[in-house]
Amino acid sequence: LGCSHASAARGVMSIFALVDCNNFYASCERVFNPRLEGKPIVVLSNNDGCVIARSNEAKKLGIPMGAPFFQWEKVCKQHKVNVFSSNYELYGDMSSRVMALLTEAWPDIEIYSIDEAFLLLDGCPENCVEFSLALRQKIKSCTGLPVSIGIAKTKTLAKIANFIAKNQTESGVFHLNDSNISILKTIPVEKIWGVGRRLAARLNDLKIFTAEELKNSDTKKLRKQFSVVMEKMIYELRGVSCLGLESVQPRKQIISSRSFGKLITSLSELEEAISHYAAIASEKLRSQHSLASGLVVFLQTNFFRKQDVQYQNSVCVPFPAATADTAYIIHIAKKCLQRLYRKGFRYHKTGIMLLNLIPDTVKQNDWLLPQSSARDTLMKTVDSINQEYGRNTVFYCAEGINPTWKIKSVFRSPRYTTRWNEILKVR
Ligand SMILES: [Mg+2]
Repeated sequence: LGCSHASAARGVMSIFALVDCNNFYASCERVFNPRLEGKPIVVLSNNDGCVIARSNEAKKLGIPMGAPFFQWEKVCKQHKVNVFSSNYELYGDMSSRVMALLTEAWPDIEIYSIDEAFLLLDGCPENCVEFSLALRQKIKSCTGLPVSIGIAKTKTLAKIANFIAKNQTESGVFHLNDSNISILKTIPVEKIWGVGRRLAARLNDLKIFTAEELKNSDTKKLRKQFSVVMEKMIYELRGVSCLGLESVQPRKQIISSRSFGKLITSLSELEEAISHYAAIASEKLRSQHSLASGLVVFLQTNFFRKQDVQYQNSVCVPFPAATADTAYIIHIAKKCLQRLYRKGFRYHKTGIMLLNLIPDTVKQNDWLLPQSSARDTLMKTVDSINQEYGRNTVFYCAEGINPTWKIKSVFRSPRYTTRWNEILKVR
């Protein structure tokens, strides 16, 4: 089963903390615009399609997660909801600030998502509640972001503790332990980490409605009906840790693609877009110290537009030797696109996928590729300039100077922390 029965038997208990930013995207918007304090906020997905984040005030108005914006535009106007396009550059930068503070405060960390991290607090010299209260205060004063911290013996329980911390405490910290474990009675199974709507329905059929009922279920019986994952979940609810911290594995493939802000017919605009995605993918590749052995380029029209003639195609090309050179990857991606392109269609999306990634330590040189140490130095220099001065400070001309195909984000706030010319102005 992989559970730490042995350590449990020895009486050594683990302590996990889950740190989660409250309404992360909405809170990032608020940090630089305090006028939004106490006001409803929604953040929209790419091309301003759906609601992907809501402040508590917006939740109270009944605006659901994932709702198409056009259906709620009226309500938003009526209640003066502050509407924002996604500002991923800002959210990404704020996230790395929070994660840096956490890493500084405690070394055993698993960054779980853009706004969540698990800490394994074993061996923490302080009382873990006091430690968490101080950490929360530090994150608030250094970044302006509110976080909630749930503490418990397992990751699954820490998730539940976080939910309680966020919704039922003033302090924003909750320690779920033997003395208050009966609170699991109030947690419906669909709130448990890893239980989706369908799994919840199947559990409900078995008359299991709450986390407590699941905790007290027969592990063997449920393992047979579901899987070993379910058995682990039950042990986790009982305080037996089955899921440890996971280290981040480098990705096996990298995809970079977006829908356009408008439909595109010309090859030159598509070439700019694919060059831009190729540059983004190559930068990601280098940041995880990998090389790609080949790529796929795809191109498609909008299948939801029944009135348009549809076309979709892709092409896969292996490289003569693995590489992370942006210029070379752009060059090949453009060649692929030229093969895919057919005149007369209205294109909606293109993208690139880098394949068969290998660590850059096993690099094999090939005279067909521009792989000199000078090229490596150039890539490193480009990456460090862009890290220091903001994304796209230096970029390839192939990506276009003033792209027309870029995604729609009409309501995006300034990228306060990563662009000098968008820095917060105090008048
Ligand atoms: Mg969150």
